Amino acid sequence: MKFERTVIEKLRQAQRIVFFTGAGVSQESGIPTFRDGPTSIWQHFDPEIYASVTGFDKNPTEVWEWYWDRRQSFKTLNPNAAHNVISAWQEKVQHVTVITQNIDGFHQKAGSHSVIELHGSLAMDKCRANGHSIVHDVNNSSKLQPMCIECGSLLRPDVVWFGETLPIAAYDQAEIMCFNCDVFICIGCSMDIYPAANLPYTASASGSYLIQVNPNPTDLNEVANCNLLGNAGEVLPALWQAVWEVDL
Ligand SMILES: [Zn+2]
Repeated sequence: MKFERTVIEKLRQAQRIVFFTGAGVSQESGIPTFRDGPTSIWQHFDPEIYASVTGFDKNPTEVWEWYWDRRQSFKTLNPNAAHNVISAWQEKVQHVTVITQNIDGFHQKAGSHSVIELHGSLAMDKCRANGHSIVHDVNNSSKLQPMCIECGSLLRPDVVWFGETLPIAAYDQAEIMCFNCDVFICIGCSMDIYPAANLPYTASASGSYLIQVNPNPTDLNEVANCNLLGNAGEVLPALWQAVWEVDL
C-alpha cells in the first residue's frame, strides 16, 4: 500500500494525535454495526424496544437479557489489527488520544488507555433511578437483572440510547482534544451520527491535518486532507509500517 509523502511526514512529526473510531473498526472484529447495512442490529431488532428509556421501562427484563446476550457473544471476539496499531501508537507517541463511538471496550482490550467513550460502554451499568455507575460483572453467569447497590433501582447498561444526550464530560474532553491535535485520524465512521460526527470537522477547523480511513466515501471526503480507502485492519498496519519503517 502506497501513501503520499505528506501523510507520512505529518504522522512522523505529530506530537498530538487523535484516533477517532466508529462502527467499522468493531465490525472487522465480527461485531455487527448498530445502524449501517443489511446485517446491522437495528435492521433486526427494534431500537424503540432495545435502545430507549421507554422500551426499558416497559420491559426491563427483556432489555437487560438482550444486552446480556450481546455481552456474552462479545466475549468470544477479539480486537483486530486496527485496535492493535492504535494501541501501539499510544505506546510510541506521548500524546495520543483515542476517542470512540463504540461500546465494546475493544480498544482497552487491545491495551489502549484513557479511551474517551462517547456512547458509553458495555463494561458499565447504571441505575435507572439515579444514574449510579456500577462496573458490569462480566463473569456473572446469571441473566438475572441486578439492583443498584446504592438505591435498589434496576440496572441498565451504561450506553447512550436514542433520545439521550452524550455523556457531557466525555464529549467536552473529546472536543478539547480536537482543538489541540496536530493530526486527527477518523476511522470506520459513517459520519452520520451526531454530535459525534462534528468532531473531525472541529479538528480540521482548528488546523489539524485530517486523515480518513474508510472502505467507503463519506461526507468527510471533501474536508479530509487525506482519504485512505480500505478496511482499518489493513490500512492501519500498512500506515504504521510506512511511518515507522518496521512491522508491528
Ligand atoms: Zn442507584
